Amino acid sequence: MSSFVKQSKARHQQPIIYNVCNYAKAPEGQPTLLTWDEVTTMFHEFGHALHGMLSDCKYNTLSGTAVARDFVEMPSQFNESFATIPEVFNHFAKHVKTGESMPDTLRNKIMSAMNYHSAYALGENLAASSVDMAWTTLPENEVPSADKADDFERQALAKVGLLDAQIPPRYSTSYFNHVWGGGYAAGYYSYLWTEVLADNIADCFAKRGALKREVGQAFRQQVLSKGNTEDLMQTFTRFTGLKSPDTSALLKARGL
Ligand SMILES: [Zn+2]
Repeated sequence: MSSFVKQSKARHQQPIIYNVCNYAKAPEGQPTLLTWDEVTTMFHEFGHALHGMLSDCKYNTLSGTAVARDFVEMPSQFNESFATIPEVFNHFAKHVKTGESMPDTLRNKIMSAMNYHSAYALGENLAASSVDMAWTTLPENEVPSADKADDFERQALAKVGLLDAQIPPRYSTSYFNHVWGGGYAAGYYSYLWTEVLADNIADCFAKRGALKREVGQAFRQQVLSKGNTEDLMQTFTRFTGLKSPDTSALLKARGL
């Protein structure tokens, strides 16, 4: 997702937002079909697109997705949850020849396979986030020499109980591209953090009726339209009623 024009009332600009989908083209004469991963990626990017399209801010520099890194993946990760709602799923998951919706037994198999190796995925992510945080909170005079970098990483992981040969960090010090060159320094945790926010929002939708128009409207007005014009924790609290994010929602969503 990106934008040609960002929404701005001061400039009388309507947003022009786009999604680019790089899907493999089917062989001649055959329809192009999407994998489950591609479907959820499309829902993800469309969540970013909605954040951009439904913005209602004065300044383009604060509108749409111009929010903090540990909030920006919330609307997109939350939007992925719609792909699994049976009514929505049955709307797009049709047999290519008969047009029939996928049988429930097959759909349930896909849903239960989603959390395969879930604990491993969470462990390697937490470990990488911890390594990032350990390096970026290190005082300058304590930075070890390059040959001691591996020792430092092992100590940092042991300190938080994540030193485990069975679940190594997803990214290690010597190849952590996000942190050293990607601008994520002390920010790699944001993937997991936004997932907590997204799961809390999805739970709210589920409780109030995920497919009800007024629930979607409230999310649009109270969250998506605001861009970066207010304290984002207030935004979260106003919509969910939660004083702070509830991490148990992430464990439940990941089947842990
Ligand atoms: Zn994203």
